[in-house]
Amino acid sequence: MGYDNDNIFAKILRHEIPNDTVFEDETILAFNDIAPKTPVHILVIPKAAYVDLEDFTARATALEIGSFFARVGQIARDLGLPGDGYRLVSNNGENAGQLVPHFHVHIMGGQKIQKGSMARGMQG
Ligand code: AMP
Repeated sequence: MGYDNDNIFAKILRHEIPNDTVFEDETILAFNDIAPKTPVHILVIPKAAYVDLEDFTARATALEIGSFFARVGQIARDLGLPGDGYRLVSNNGENAGQLVPHFHVHIMGGQKIQKGSMARGMQG
């Protein structure tokens, strides 16, 4: 599947629609999920155009991939999440119910998340 330039996160990156930014640098944007499933629910996206984790890990360089996940870890630390723990989720494609076709990871924390609740929780 090719990248859809009209997806919601592409519009956020072009500043066509607003977002509640948590962190931004030259390569990534992290913002609060518009419909949070947990007290802390942040989406982290690369600024470059990748459809999903499959596309990202197939086409991005090891440096890009490594620095993306290093930043995800740093954001979680900055929010104080590692102490109590948190969940990282990336929905990929139809079977996972991916809604927005721009690669993103969900950082979810601030409460105990039941095992097995992820699929329901992530799709509202
Ligand atoms: P998914 O593609 O299923 O991994 O999830 C996409 C996520 O994007 C959902 O949790 C939505 O609540 C969230 N979302 C959709 N539109 C926006 C938006 N404009 N700003 C912030 N989050 C959004």
